[in-house]
Amino acid sequence: MKGTSTKRCINPSCGLSFEIDNDIYRCSCGFLVDVIYSELPSKRLTEVFFDRRNHRENIYDESGVWRFRDLLNFSGIDTNSISDCAKTLVSLDGAEGRLSKPYTMTKVAEYALMPNSNFFLQPEGYNPSGSFKDNGMSTAVTHAKMLGVKKLVCASTGNTSASAAMYAANENMECDVYIPKGEVAPGKLGQAFQFGAQVIQVEGNFDDALAASLADSKLSHGYTVNSLNPFRLEGQKTIVYRVLEHLDWNPPDWIVYPGGALGNISSCGKCLIELVEWGWIRKIPRIAVINAEGASSLYDLVNSKFESKPLSWNNGRPDLEMIERYYHYKDGKGLTPKTRATAIQIGKPANLIKALRAIEFTNGVVTRVSDMEMADGMSIVGLNGFDCELASGAVPAGVRVLRRDGIIKADDIVVGILTGRQKDPSLPVEYHTNKSNRYARPPTND
Ligand SMILES: *Cc1c(COP(=O)(O)O)cnc(C)c1O
Repeated sequence: MKGTSTKRCINPSCGLSFEIDNDIYRCSCGFLVDVIYSELPSKRLTEVFFDRRNHRENIYDESGVWRFRDLLNFSGIDTNSISDCAKTLVSLDGAEGRLSKPYTMTKVAEYALMPNSNFFLQPEGYNPSGSFKDNGMSTAVTHAKMLGVKKLVCASTGNTSASAAMYAANENMECDVYIPKGEVAPGKLGQAFQFGAQVIQVEGNFDDALAASLADSKLSHGYTVNSLNPFRLEGQKTIVYRVLEHLDWNPPDWIVYPGGALGNISSCGKCLIELVEWGWIRKIPRIAVINAEGASSLYDLVNSKFESKPLSWNNGRPDLEMIERYYHYKDGKGLTPKTRATAIQIGKPANLIKALRAIEFTNGVVTRVSDMEMADGMSIVGLNGFDCELASGAVPAGVRVLRRDGIIKADDIVVGILTGRQKDPSLPVEYHTNKSNRYARPPTND
């Protein structure tokens, strides 16, 4: 399937289009842009995708991202031509998205107050750099390569930089990563160094690091691979494709994510909007976003915790001034995001507006959980033999809260995304050493 694609401003009263041969991610009206495909894909492709799982050593079929390349064909290649794929598509030997699919986990289901057969978790931590970020990085770096880019730039709570640095090293590009000093898990920081990135430590939090990286990226002709980049979000749609494929393309009732910069939510929303547009699905799964208590901007804004009116997409006319008032209030009080789940320690989510669109389209909900609840969630996932990090622990913890609140029903089909693997080994050691923790197995002395 070939075809042309463009970028388009998501603001319905603007809708300005852009060619794709540039790195514009924000329209002059201030809204972010989407990648738009000109062709309507046939649902018969689902059989092609399934068949590619027997990949016959073709890495573009083996990859859990590029197996769906017909739905991400912004480069306009002949998707059946292996030589076209090899020339254009960036892949870590087919490893991105390869091991990701939904699993049932009995102990987590019990903790989350769900019947085992209705509750699935999809580990994205088994991606080559250890988080879901690889899904979107393979597509963003593909676009960078189309533009002949020499240097990737990102700000990161850790996993974006690990993924960007890994792909950059593989593609012989440079990579600058801006990190909030002292706020990145040791395993993630180690990866940035290991893969040869230039680490730039920023005094402040992630929001400060992002501002610094965007300013420098402009000056130094770098290519930004944060989730502001619409090509990142294209690759992350495959997380949802793999969920749906596992369920024979029958949508679940809920898809649950932790919320940080809200790229994942935005990507999932766009994915579902397209699938409905194409007539591939009719039922729309509801998105549930789980914020950390200490970094709950989305929760505060959409649940009227800040002002009496909820913030919403409002058919493309969100109350942008309310967002400014909220940030101004937080800055004025010196309220910075604070959670041990550093991957979601974000106060000003870059994709907030796209996330509002996703929440409105899917009738989504936002809740929040404490660090202790996330630690229980992370640990019960571990007891089922799966690895995840603290931020991912928000997913089982959040499902438990939404079940208790009666928002998720017992007979709903729920799929949660475990976003990344454990990269701070001191956390499980600390959890299990403290015998007052719910699932602790304290060490004994001989
Ligand atoms: C990046 C990240 C998140 C947050 O995802 P967003 O798309 O920024 O909301 C959550 N968990 C992990 C492990 C991450 O690396």
